[in-house]
Amino acid sequence: MKPSILSCAALLAVAPSLLAAAEVTKGHRPSDFGFKLDPVLPPAINDAAAKATFSIIDGEKDGNSPDLAVLKDGKVPTGEDQPAANFFFGGDGGRIGVDLGDVISVKSVASYSWHGENRGPQVYKLYAADGKAEGFNATPKKGTDPKSVGWTLLAEVDTRPRTGNGGGQHGAEIANRGGKPLGDYRHLLFDVSKTSERGFANTFFSEIDVIDAKQSDLQRIKPIEKIVKNYRSKDGKFRYTIDSTKAPALTEWSEKELLPVIEEWYPKLVAMMPSDGYRAPDQVLFEYRDDMGGTPAYAIGNRIALSAPWYKGQLTNEAKGCAVHEMGHVVQNYWRARQTNRNPKDTPGWVTEGICDYIRWFLYEPQSRGAHVRDVRQAKYDASYRTTANFLDWVIKEKDKDLLKKLNAAAREGRYEEKLWKDWTGLTVQELGEEWKKAVADGKR
Ligand SMILES: [Zn+2]
Repeated sequence: MKPSILSCAALLAVAPSLLAAAEVTKGHRPSDFGFKLDPVLPPAINDAAAKATFSIIDGEKDGNSPDLAVLKDGKVPTGEDQPAANFFFGGDGGRIGVDLGDVISVKSVASYSWHGENRGPQVYKLYAADGKAEGFNATPKKGTDPKSVGWTLLAEVDTRPRTGNGGGQHGAEIANRGGKPLGDYRHLLFDVSKTSERGFANTFFSEIDVIDAKQSDLQRIKPIEKIVKNYRSKDGKFRYTIDSTKAPALTEWSEKELLPVIEEWYPKLVAMMPSDGYRAPDQVLFEYRDDMGGTPAYAIGNRIALSAPWYKGQLTNEAKGCAVHEMGHVVQNYWRARQTNRNPKDTPGWVTEGICDYIRWFLYEPQSRGAHVRDVRQAKYDASYRTTANFLDWVIKEKDKDLLKKLNAAAREGRYEEKLWKDWTGLTVQELGEEWKKAVADGKR
């Protein structure tokens, strides 16, 4: 039985005895938000499960999973792949027992999970017992039908979507329609299945709640609210969005310090890198993320991802310059060549990155001398980033003041090739590289 909410309710009216008695309400949303799973309420902090004893009745926890206590700590993960903040089985699912310590009037049960792929959705059967039935077995293993040893099936939960792997946040709430308590129970049994036969498919369970019908001081976690600010350039041409949901502490800095840099430099970048028939994106989105590992920032299309932890440590150092570099990529848009040119030539990465670092270090913040070449052995024109930036600055100053425009247009149109350097300057890129290297050795760069 994998009914949707509605079909479950409809069937109940006809044949209640054949089905689990309670209604399952599901909430699901993509991974970028904090457990706001309407209509399922956010996880509770001080519910009856917080004091209960959780145990593994069958199966084994995954070697990377913490103990079951993580299911009742009233805390949820802050990212989609946080093994330490979720309980998950290894192998083929398992059974979790919850002993509430005493018989209580159980109003509802809820489970929460989060993962970007197969481990997101939940598939389990929920049984309950007061423990008083004759022959009651509190720890029935997988081969035993709990119904045969004193348990009642309350619900079958399956939050998998019809299509896709179901990545994202999931919540399932088991309650009676109309709010009547589920019953008087002391024990709960979660008979958990994998969500798929393929890949890692044991659910990342984040929290399990048991709500006591008599509890009056229930507290729930506050779902994270999005912090998204939209700005329009004074001339109305460009729109900028800054999403600091994952870095609330950077909201003010972003508006006071970063936005002025964006407003000054994005139009400048657009103006300094034109090409025939090209219109740069008129909207740029900046989003702080907390899952980028060691990468400070990157740009895809007109979206710029900024690493929140890296930014917090670089506010007075590299933070703004890094954003200028990424805005350079938004304007470059070199993938466009694949749509506009039948036989596009790939632009080497050192050219793409060198251009953005040239703009950053020599036009935006020359005073920082961030692209000064200290060691002549590193002076390779195609060493990318700062080193190539230094090379480009030298070629522009010494050989061709229009080089940036020409180089950018060639790259965007998919017609970059080495011989262009000779066309533009009379020297091959290797010859230019050697001459520049001498300037570096002479301490002129
Ligand atoms: Zn870059």
